[in-house]
Amino acid sequence: MTTPIPHLLLRGGNTFDSSARTFSGPRDVLCHDGRFVAAAADGAGNVLACEGMYIVPGLIDCHVHLTSSGAGNEESLTRGMPTAIRAFRAMRHAEATLRAGFTLVRDLGAPEHLNIHLARAIADGLIEGPTILAAGFGVTMTGGHGHTAIAREADGPDEVRKAVREQLRAGAGAIKLFASGGVMTPGVDPRAPSFTEAELQAGVEEAHKAFRTAAAHAQATEGIKNAIRAGVDSIEHGIWLDEEAIGLMLDRGTYLVPTLTAPTQIDAGGAEAGIPGFMLEKNKRVIEDHIASYQTAVEAGVKVAAGTDQGTPMNRPGENGQEIVLMANHGLTPATALLAATAWAAEMLGLGEERGRVDEGYIADAVVLSRDPLADITAIADPTAIVAVVKDGRVVHRNDGGTR
Ligand SMILES: [Zn+2]
Repeated sequence: MTTPIPHLLLRGGNTFDSSARTFSGPRDVLCHDGRFVAAAADGAGNVLACEGMYIVPGLIDCHVHLTSSGAGNEESLTRGMPTAIRAFRAMRHAEATLRAGFTLVRDLGAPEHLNIHLARAIADGLIEGPTILAAGFGVTMTGGHGHTAIAREADGPDEVRKAVREQLRAGAGAIKLFASGGVMTPGVDPRAPSFTEAELQAGVEEAHKAFRTAAAHAQATEGIKNAIRAGVDSIEHGIWLDEEAIGLMLDRGTYLVPTLTAPTQIDAGGAEAGIPGFMLEKNKRVIEDHIASYQTAVEAGVKVAAGTDQGTPMNRPGENGQEIVLMANHGLTPATALLAATAWAAEMLGLGEERGRVDEGYIADAVVLSRDPLADITAIADPTAIVAVVKDGRVVHRNDGGTR
């Protein structure tokens, strides 16, 4: 039998109202049995003084790789590393992610199903971390992007179907399909489509049958269109969106998870960070188009959700908040950037009814900030501004040092 969680009162904070897109209050927010509630049953509870603070919903990152540290040379660093050491590292990365206010993440590819095992260890209470929807391996064509590390190769609709079923059998909470080349695999061109529409369709069908979202890594224009037509829930990266692709996304309600942090951090890190030359070179060719595509999509009204691609070079766990800042710097308002990492992300993941809002009945995940993120969005990515992180109605992190 599990011990009941004592209720938790977040007292007197300004609370983000996701519908009004502004803070309301000050008011009390009550958590009981892991949910936000209007009134608690009797019994002793805990109180967190939030007067003068800003309460936002627990943050969501729709694209991480928790097995990766985000080192510049991660692939050479981890080559030959024992699985157990990889798992211990992933545990640390999960803890850092949670401390940054991210209470839910979707892990889109890891070696040896480590992301699925990590998700289970956290769900079972063995270790602290965000709730994880883990894809297991991504599924890619023979020689396609990701094949060297985080993907299982498959060719033809039937084999893709089988590869997806394998991930589901292992316990995957999401499915990842590779619809084009990418920056991080040597010899693979990000402008090249990979799976055919029929292959993608088979994968999406299996994912949706199991009530999982299907995410497509899609950078090349044709790859993006194949994925949208195949019915994926989200286009990851979306570097080369053209008018037709944007029209298709609007028609189908497909989300864009732009992962602006990935190219930005490769560019910032450079050769000094140990990032392989081929990546730097490919990144140079994509970064401007990537940001321009995102801006065009936002202006056209394409739905967006926040995802960092944490684990790519210099894209470290616990620094996930920078994606929200980038999304705001390049076209969203601070309030809508916050929605992209909360309510909108939850909707994309099919969890809009129970996550992403500080509202009665929702899962009690929240972040208490000392600074107003709508006045200055960088507060969301500033570890000294995070006063507390609440997950499932429990305070899982308190920042007692530093500025307060
Ligand atoms: Zn990724």
